[in-house]
Amino acid sequence: MRTPPIPSRNWSGGHRWSPEHVLTPRTEDEVVAGIALARRQKLPLRMIGGGHSFTPLAATDGISMSLDRYRGLVRADARTGLVTLRGGTRLWEVAELLAPHDLALPVMGDIDRQSIAGAVQTGTHGTGARFTGFAGMVRALRLVLADGSIVDTSPLQDPDLFEAARLGLGTIGVVLEATLACVPRYRLELVEAIEPLEAVARSFLADSSIVDHHEFFWFPRTSRATVRTSRRVVQETPRHRPHPAAEALQQEVLGNGAWELMCRGAALVPGLSRPAAEIASRVFAGPRVVDDSAAVFVAPRRVRFHESEWAIPASRFRAAFAALRARFEQEDVRVTFPIEVRRAAADDVWLSTAYGRDTVYLAAHRYHAEEAGPYLLMIQRTLEPFGARPHWGKRHWLGKRELSALYPRFEDFHAVREAADPDGRLLTGYLRHLLG
Ligand SMILES: Cc1cc2nc3c(=O)[nH]c(=O)nc-3n(C[C@H](O)[C@H](O)[C@H](O)COP(=O)(O)OP(=O)(O)OC[C@H]3O[C@@H](n4cnc5c(N)ncnc54)[C@H](O)[C@@H]3O)c2cc1C
Repeated sequence: MRTPPIPSRNWSGGHRWSPEHVLTPRTEDEVVAGIALARRQKLPLRMIGGGHSFTPLAATDGISMSLDRYRGLVRADARTGLVTLRGGTRLWEVAELLAPHDLALPVMGDIDRQSIAGAVQTGTHGTGARFTGFAGMVRALRLVLADGSIVDTSPLQDPDLFEAARLGLGTIGVVLEATLACVPRYRLELVEAIEPLEAVARSFLADSSIVDHHEFFWFPRTSRATVRTSRRVVQETPRHRPHPAAEALQQEVLGNGAWELMCRGAALVPGLSRPAAEIASRVFAGPRVVDDSAAVFVAPRRVRFHESEWAIPASRFRAAFAALRARFEQEDVRVTFPIEVRRAAADDVWLSTAYGRDTVYLAAHRYHAEEAGPYLLMIQRTLEPFGARPHWGKRHWLGKRELSALYPRFEDFHAVREAADPDGRLLTGYLRHLLG
């Protein structure tokens, strides 16, 4: 099993830290020993997965613990679809682990570099009106709490602990194992098309209600959108991929190499941003693909960026999107990266961005070498009146005061967290700012 180096910076490069200890336990006992070290030395302990969060969730100058050596499948039941994975398992490994059991994840996001625990703890999601994010798929958890005890929790075993720990930002305990509701293996037929933005935005709610996985990308201030739709087809459907050379041209040259050059050029000469966005909006669509679900959901993302993402009640999407477009015109926005629009089902996870709401996600990106703050903050300000909840792993400027008003179960979460970790061993200044 290949173990990547444990990072002390996040993927975007926006946060760096210098932990006093880096622990990579191989057993439950070693995890418990790590927690005991934190208690003895009165140091904060933060778990790190793939380090792909844009916020300093995993950052600590105390103890950084990674489960990269604690990965793999614990059990899978093809009859119930329940699958238990060790917390450090990376998403890229899951399809291969589940294939012998004829099972697959019901949905995935844009990439597969994250750990299962990291994806669950921040509410990572993909797109699809019938599908929740990763936290909504969780049916049971095995945790180490801050006092060193190991607990199994589910809707039937300490349900409050379960609800808080399903999406707990790593503040309730170390996720040793997560049991997820999976589905029979399937393939996806992906079709991408460039269409007029007005029509795409107008029909987004209707289209995303019928298509399994529907989303669109819009380069700000252009008049077209790249629409990406994936339909679920049975596993026996023949695979269809473009010729490897055409695929490499699309993914590696247009999607990553040439794209990086355009972004770099626009970062140096801001006047190039609008022509770059215009060009990208005309070529940013790939060929038809039919393949195993995991191979279609994810794509390489080698051009680094900063990102914010906001969850809006689906019923307010059209007004929110119109407000964003108007604001971009007013502010003469010039950016090279698109806005990504996705959909997810309501769930009942206390701190989920889709808690109790059929949800549309609006994500904004900015090239990593550009100053992202003012642009992303402008988007936050524009979307706040629409009850927007920020993705926990992506950039935002909200703290406990605002967040507690957005989540009806915020105080319940707080009570469970305090009981599980009264000394705040799993907290840092950033987590206190978010959670109080
Ligand atoms: C290029 C890129 C693409 C992305 N695409 C999407 C997308 O399509 N959809 C989406 O929703 N998000 C997306 N994200 C965001 C990303 O999925 C989340 O930030 C996710 O949390 C990252 O997982 P990770 O394993 O890297 O976790 P980290 O960032 O390392 O950690 C995230 C949180 O999980 C906690 N944690 C990690 N392991 C454990 C454990 N074993 N026990 C307890 N807590 C733990 C950490 O303490 C931290 O609070 C993307 C990010 C990037 C950089």
